[in-house]
Amino acid sequence: MGKPTGFLEITRAKQPYRPVEGRVRDWKQVMLPHPTETLQKQGARCMDCGIPFCHMGCPLGNIIPDWNDLVYRNNWREALVRLHATNNFPEFTGTLCPAPCEGSCVLGINDDPVTIKAIELAIIEHAFEAGWITPEPPLARTGKKVAVIGSGPAGLAAAQQLNRAGHWVTVFERADRIGGLLRYGIPEFKLEKRVLDRRLDLLRKEDITFQANANVGVNVPVEDLRRDFDAILLAGGATLPRDLKVPGRDLPGIHFAMEYLPLQNRRCEGDQIPEDRIITARGKRVVILGGGDTGADCLGTAHRQGAVSVHQFELLPSPPKERASDNPWPLWPNILRTSSAHEEGGVRDYCISSTRFSGRNGRVERLHTVRVEFVSDGNGRRVMREIPGSEFEMETDLVLLAMGFLGPEKDGMLGQLGVKLTERGTVWRDDNWMTSVPGVFTAGDMQRGQSLIVWALAEGRQAARGIDRYLMGSTNLP
Ligand SMILES: Cc1cc2nc3c(=O)[nH]c(=O)nc-3n(C[C@H](O)[C@H](O)[C@H](O)COP(=O)(O)OP(=O)(O)OC[C@H]3O[C@@H](n4cnc5c(N)ncnc54)[C@H](O)[C@@H]3O)c2cc1C
Ligand code: SF4
Repeated sequence: MGKPTGFLEITRAKQPYRPVEGRVRDWKQVMLPHPTETLQKQGARCMDCGIPFCHMGCPLGNIIPDWNDLVYRNNWREALVRLHATNNFPEFTGTLCPAPCEGSCVLGINDDPVTIKAIELAIIEHAFEAGWITPEPPLARTGKKVAVIGSGPAGLAAAQQLNRAGHWVTVFERADRIGGLLRYGIPEFKLEKRVLDRRLDLLRKEDITFQANANVGVNVPVEDLRRDFDAILLAGGATLPRDLKVPGRDLPGIHFAMEYLPLQNRRCEGDQIPEDRIITARGKRVVILGGGDTGADCLGTAHRQGAVSVHQFELLPSPPKERASDNPWPLWPNILRTSSAHEEGGVRDYCISSTRFSGRNGRVERLHTVRVEFVSDGNGRRVMREIPGSEFEMETDLVLLAMGFLGPEKDGMLGQLGVKLTERGTVWRDDNWMTSVPGVFTAGDMQRGQSLIVWALAEGRQAARGIDRYLMGSTNLP
């Protein structure tokens, strides 16, 4: 603890963002770095409390008070060592993590929590600038081969860990570029893809092999992988979108968020999308169904594409502005969040149920809705009830469905391998991260359901330990 009175003297610095007027005209990242001196002072706000609850808040178990103190003392090199001890890719979490650690920071009980996420990002960016981040190929090879299926954060973290343990790792990805949702899903304005490419270059130099356009279970037979590899990790994500099965759903102009967002990712990469495949909000009245983060990403994308108006409707009630009494510290605060996309415009509305779509000239033209309320059913459960007379309609040219995900796709790879599924439809695993098929492991959204990057990284690391133990009888991987 560099400065015992830091938390009394220094207030939390607000995360800087680019001004709204400028940023909605381009695709560049909206989050700006804090000046270094600001963050060193922010590090001094950490109280180094007896029981650092932030460790538990962070799924990776990042050793947060250590690096807060080291940053305050200007010892960036040592801070990097502590950060990399638990996190393979802090530049992803430092940019995109919702920071559950900050929700459980002890200072947050009666003050603003420490700016943990911003300090994490500053450490890794400082290290890249200083040239400290270099490839770390293993000194010796075990001769074992591991196939990682899926190149999202879970697959990439596992690949790096397994490679460092000396195994030959090949990552199979069905998309034409590597990165999972970091590449195709998360918009450029949240994460510039040069940040992902910078890390992928390092992984390639560490001798990890990447195979894009390799759809396991389709153009890569699972039997080939079973024959050619000593272990397989399934890290294929939870890509099955929740649909809205109401009349008119089939009208052109209604799309899943994940049909829409990756097309813009591709355009940002410089790809030419054929006219008949482009989905754009330009000049359109857009309605987004789903009030979560994916919906917010659609919102920011629609504004940048030149939408005339954007409404984001959510079925559930708005979360409270402050923690509710049944959501105390150190739990993740379930409160209303305003993302950078919400600052840029659009209308958010809650407790709205979509009943049907109607069209004109063969395209969607109108969304029909009714307001709902959630009331007790007398048995301690809350049930949804339509409010009579509250029906309303909204004219629209483009509807984006961002209502969450139902788990991994069951056909193809999972069906062919015959892995057991949980009741939730995710891939079942044992305590060593192995599925019901010996030698086949799983991590990330594929076993957890759609979640967060930080969880994907944490699980990729843990599954790598499980695989290393399976292959070698014991493991030294952290
Ligand atoms: C639009 C959107 C925005 C998000 N924003 C954030 C955010 O800001 N912060 C955050 O923490 N989380 C965010 N998330 C959640 C986060 O991206 C995921 O939890 C995380 O990427 C999961 O990582 P993963 O490696 O398990 O899977 P994924 O990132 O989904 O990667 C899985 C990969 O496996 C590939 N694959 C699947 N099946 C096969 C197969 N048979 N053969 C070969 N390849 C296959 C897929 O093509 C995909 O590339 C967001 C999610 C979405 C949808
Ligand atoms: S990874 Fe997320 S939860 Fe962990 S320290 Fe970083 S911001 Fe906090």
